[in-house]
Amino acid sequence: MQVDRDPVTVAEAVDDPWTMALRQFVQVAQRLGLKRGIQQYLMVPERELTVNFPVKMDDGSVRVFTGYRVHHSLVRGPAKGGIRYHPAVSLHEVRALAMWMTWKCALMNLPYGGAKGGVVVDPHTLSRDELERLTRRYAAEIAVFMHPHGDIPAPDVGTNAQVMASIMDTYSMHRGHSIPAVVTGKPVVIGGSVGRAEATGRGVMLVAREAARLFGLPWEGATVAVQGFGNVGSVAARLLQEAGCRVVAVSDVRGGIYADRGLDIAAVQQHAAATGSVVGFPGAAAVSNAELLELPVTILVPAALEGQITAANASRIRARMIVEGANGPTTPEADAVLARNGVVVVPDILANAGGVVVSYFEWVQDLQAFFWDEAEINRRLERLMVQALHQVAATARATGLDLRQAALQRAVQRVAEALTVRGIYP
Ligand code: GLU
Repeated sequence: MQVDRDPVTVAEAVDDPWTMALRQFVQVAQRLGLKRGIQQYLMVPERELTVNFPVKMDDGSVRVFTGYRVHHSLVRGPAKGGIRYHPAVSLHEVRALAMWMTWKCALMNLPYGGAKGGVVVDPHTLSRDELERLTRRYAAEIAVFMHPHGDIPAPDVGTNAQVMASIMDTYSMHRGHSIPAVVTGKPVVIGGSVGRAEATGRGVMLVAREAARLFGLPWEGATVAVQGFGNVGSVAARLLQEAGCRVVAVSDVRGGIYADRGLDIAAVQQHAAATGSVVGFPGAAAVSNAELLELPVTILVPAALEGQITAANASRIRARMIVEGANGPTTPEADAVLARNGVVVVPDILANAGGVVVSYFEWVQDLQAFFWDEAEINRRLERLMVQALHQVAATARATGLDLRQAALQRAVQRVAEALTVRGIYP
């Protein structure tokens, strides 16, 4: 990759997440007047690992899978970020997600750099044993990067606490003793943190509630649509409902459901657990994922994948506020349209930071081998989320920027400052 070329032409396509991440960064870097060298350094991942590895399948055949682990920046501390199992994983996507982790950790002032990993696989097509073998082999392949003070993975789309347990165990077996701090989002019984499984969704709810207060939007009875019913979307939907909102629509990969009087999210969770999807929930109408995004609700929570709100549909968004549970759901073109239409967008690096915040708590607890209770975790999470929102809103007010630009500006500035203070080696 050549760093001197126009960043937009470096990447493959206009809707490519890496193009998007670069365009966001360049805009902020130029506004901050970052020196050319610093800008160029932060425009490229520090290191990237591609692994092609074999896995023995249950039928005795061998399949070769491709995976990645990208370190975007290590300037502020160990590389931190999740591992995604999805058929559409690509190096460009993992790069973008790694860069966003750098900004997210910097914005939340966690002592971490940014990383991301991924395997090109649909985990639902594997048996439990195949998934475990794939995970253990991938962990062994990226173990050259992993270390409790170097690179600490966590769950993301398509992975969960059990996958983290396999990673922790594989890494520990090779060292001869248990090393829980090498991965976060583990089951509590092996050094995970209480509250971690719900943390991203809880953070979404906390930020939505505070943003509603801050921007004068209704809260009690506010209508909500949530795209994505995985670890982030399902928890956010349930906690938003418990906090007094009316969740009228939710969706997953197979489609969505809508009920104007509000959905009983605990019942939808049970239905999804039993049938594999929210689709077909009794008493609700069907909506497509695209239709869900355009519903006239107070709060829209995109909690699925990147590139959902684009130039093609942004003008039809009728939500008053978007709280980004997913990473990169809104393209820069869409941001401009939403800003013109007065839609408040609480950006991903702030809105979904609850996950990595409690990952940080988990890591700290593992390192000191001293564990906090859930009330303590949730209290600390709320304080950090609310404080970060207020700081970003204050920057936005002072500069006239939207919340995404303000958040990115605060984050990039922190990383650039750390880089400047540390200096260039040798
Ligand atoms: N995958 C989550 C994210 O995108 C969590 C990362 C972590 O906890 O390290 O923020």
